[in-house]
Amino acid sequence: MDLFEYQARDIFEKHGVPVLAAAIATTADEAEKAAETIGGKVVVKAQVKVGGRGKAGGVKLAENPKDAREKASAILGMDIKGHTVRTVMIAAAAPIEAEYYLAILLDRSNRTFLVMASVSGGMDIEEVAHTAPEKLAKIPVSAVDGISMSKAKEIVAAAKFPAEVADQVADVLLKLWEVFQSEDATLVEVNPLVKTSDGKIIALDGKVTLDENADFRQPEHQGLVDEAGENPLEAAAKEKGLNYVKLDGEVGIIGNGAGLVMSTLDVVAYAGEKHGGVRPANFLDIGGGASAQIMADGLSIILGDKDVKSVFVNVFGGITACDSVANGIVQALELLGPKATKPIVVRLDGNNVLEGRAILKAAAHPLVEQADTMDGAANRAAELAAK
Ligand code: GDP
Ligand code: MN
Repeated sequence: MDLFEYQARDIFEKHGVPVLAAAIATTADEAEKAAETIGGKVVVKAQVKVGGRGKAGGVKLAENPKDAREKASAILGMDIKGHTVRTVMIAAAAPIEAEYYLAILLDRSNRTFLVMASVSGGMDIEEVAHTAPEKLAKIPVSAVDGISMSKAKEIVAAAKFPAEVADQVADVLLKLWEVFQSEDATLVEVNPLVKTSDGKIIALDGKVTLDENADFRQPEHQGLVDEAGENPLEAAAKEKGLNYVKLDGEVGIIGNGAGLVMSTLDVVAYAGEKHGGVRPANFLDIGGGASAQIMADGLSIILGDKDVKSVFVNVFGGITACDSVANGIVQALELLGPKATKPIVVRLDGNNVLEGRAILKAAAHPLVEQADTMDGAANRAAELAAK
């Protein structure tokens, strides 16, 4: 889960990373009041989960509370790369003397953690990484050792931070490591980390990604979920414990096993090319135990997607045999009743396939048709979706 900047800022503050006073606002009125409370010059910043806000006009300096009000009303409602700004953060403005870059991330390809650090931070860091990679130090950090003071000093030296800020930056690195580790993050990025005109080091913008696999031991993270920004179908699926991802096509997909569902998406996209370019509408893996309830939950999520024109249920019977799955489908359709409205193509194979097919045939539900092969079923589902 990616966090908003203000959430990252609050987590930084909790772990002692130096940040500036700030408050959030969803109206121009609130923005003006927040600016009054903070006092002096403030920065009004769009809260969207996308980078490059500064360049898109989503970060503006305001001289006083009245000005903050105006800047906030210009930024609220703005569209930044497809994200609507619903909230702004009002932060004390810092007199910036230098902009640096620090990030700790999970480097999956090298199976390690990685620190990236540069004294050329700011809005052009991507450009720096591209054209002058020597200005971006990359130092692996082992999961066992983490970032100790000596490691932090090694990083600071490798990135050539000026001597007068070296100790402060090393200290910030230790605290960012604490954020990374104790919050179960996969990314903690500060850009810019600034040196102010009075020589202080402050994290001015933060980006944090939390590892959702650790949610079970991070109950506080539940409060960070952006319900308004979540896809409603994905939210409903999550509530039912389903492994669902919304895509932008027309063929609803249900399968058992992540690998089978992935290949089903490919086969449907391929078959769709012959039928006006229809594509899969979602990923949904109902896993091993395809009970009637799980099938009904899955079907109701997919049938509730207004983009879906047909559904492809692709099941390979293993421990949960095809006859149980077929019974699950029949009972699910009974549970759904008139809510089931779209054609459903079912392909069953594997353990007890003949029994499974016979159950569906006997039930003779008007929306259900069977196909013997995965390709045949994908083709039929695509054809139905294109009608
Ligand atoms: P991003 O573009 O989404 O990464 O947004 P940032 O929060 O990093 O802000 C972009 C740029 O705005 C920074 O690199 C700074 O140059 C500038 N900026 C942000 N906050 C302040 C501030 O408090 N004072 C000043 N002078 N500039 C700021
Ligand atoms: Mn930034």
